[in-house]
Amino acid sequence: MTVSIALFTQDLRLHDNPVLHAAHTSADQVVPLFVSDPAVEAAGFAAPNRQAFLADCLADLDASLRGIGSRLTVRRGEAAEQTARLAAETGATTVHVAAGVTGFAHRREVRLRKALGERLHVHEASVTVVPPGRITPVGRDHYAVFTPYHRAWQEAPRRTVLAVPGALRTPGGIDSDTLLVSGTTSPGLPPGGESAGRARWRTWDVDAYADVHDDLAADDTSRLSPYLHFGCLSPTELVAHALRHDGEGARAFVRQLAWRDFHHQVLAARPDAARRDYRDHDDHWHHDEEETEAWRQGRTGYPIVDAGMRQLAYEGWMPNRARLITAGFFAKCLYQDWRIGAAHFLSLLVDGDVANNQLNWQWVAGTGTDTRPNRILNPLRQADRYDPDGAYVRRWIPELAHLPGPAVHRPGLFAHGYPAPIIDPDALTTRFRIGRP
Ligand SMILES: Cc1cc2nc3c(=O)[nH]c(=O)nc-3n(C[C@H](O)[C@H](O)[C@H](O)COP(=O)(O)OP(=O)(O)OC[C@H]3O[C@@H](n4cnc5c(N)ncnc54)[C@H](O)[C@@H]3O)c2cc1C
Repeated sequence: MTVSIALFTQDLRLHDNPVLHAAHTSADQVVPLFVSDPAVEAAGFAAPNRQAFLADCLADLDASLRGIGSRLTVRRGEAAEQTARLAAETGATTVHVAAGVTGFAHRREVRLRKALGERLHVHEASVTVVPPGRITPVGRDHYAVFTPYHRAWQEAPRRTVLAVPGALRTPGGIDSDTLLVSGTTSPGLPPGGESAGRARWRTWDVDAYADVHDDLAADDTSRLSPYLHFGCLSPTELVAHALRHDGEGARAFVRQLAWRDFHHQVLAARPDAARRDYRDHDDHWHHDEEETEAWRQGRTGYPIVDAGMRQLAYEGWMPNRARLITAGFFAKCLYQDWRIGAAHFLSLLVDGDVANNQLNWQWVAGTGTDTRPNRILNPLRQADRYDPDGAYVRRWIPELAHLPGPAVHRPGLFAHGYPAPIIDPDALTTRFRIGRP
């Protein structure tokens, strides 16, 4: 009787899971394992919103595994140590895990290799559609510009979508820990797990996506990012399905998934970009804790910025346009260090992701892969363009709900209990222009 371990990481699903598929087809019995590593908490990365979502994901994964005759084992500790211990307990001869892109994932893989040697099998194209490093420009180890990456990405071979195993056999008598969840969570968090992710995916209509994805009031983007972050949904399956569906909306949606892969391949090649400027411009960042706090609380006096920040606090999520506006305001208009803003996002985002968060922040701050690094998104013009009627602002800022139409973006004297702008509207570009040499 052969036994294999399927070590789940950022692939908490049964559908189209290369790790589970390989564990299932290579042994008589499979032990599905998730290791909760205290190092993630110690690094400050286990934000309450993501921990709560993760707990849902694990409960859902366990229920789905039970549906096919198995169950999930959860262990707490360092991943390689716990996996090797479980392999010894169960006599497992192979361990399957998805390739990750972060510095943490690389270190985990090195330790797993050291502990397990040839018994470890690492599977690509699990977290991303195209594995980082699979497509590269001539003479470089990764793409630094999205457009040529996207062109190559569209041509790159993709693996086929894998079926859910019909039945799994799992040895009995294995102890399981529970995940520790603590801290206050946002009241409007979505439910976690593959079932919830697939339900959202099935009910969301991709057809209108190209037209409405930047319309803040419409709130009609997929909202699949947390499910993609935890791997409750497979990006490969989403792309295959969207391309079969075809149409402008589907193509625009697939393009966004290519952006996700793009950031992953940058981070895989440059793990230090999680903290260090990808392109150093010798910025002399402004520092003002009071301003930063006003931004965090959604009290900057710029309604479109404050609406986004309040949505972030309430839902642990924001649409891309709101992220661009709020981050742009912080990094370019206030000209404060993007790392401070990115850390606040990571403390709340339920989809908070080292690759997507840090590299999008760098893009916005002009230290990353934007080919126009000096562009500044003026929050008032963004408001006029992406919330023309002001409905998004009225939804998130009750103090301004009495103001009709676009007047809500410039509340002036009519704003009872709403703060005056923390930076003069005429000075929105000044600090950046002076501060960046
Ligand atoms: C400052 C900033 C920080 C961000 N932080 C994160 C983060 O921590 N985690 C995260 O998943 N995304 C992040 N994004 C990217 C993007 O804003 C979110 O993925 C998107 O808003 C999620 O909503 P959705 O699922 O409805 O997206 P949709 O518009 O429906 O897009 C579909 C999917 O494509 C991917 N995607 C879309 N836009 C981007 C993008 N610009 N970069 C990379 N992938 C993208 C996401 O996986 C998303 O779920 C950030 C963007 C900015 C500007």
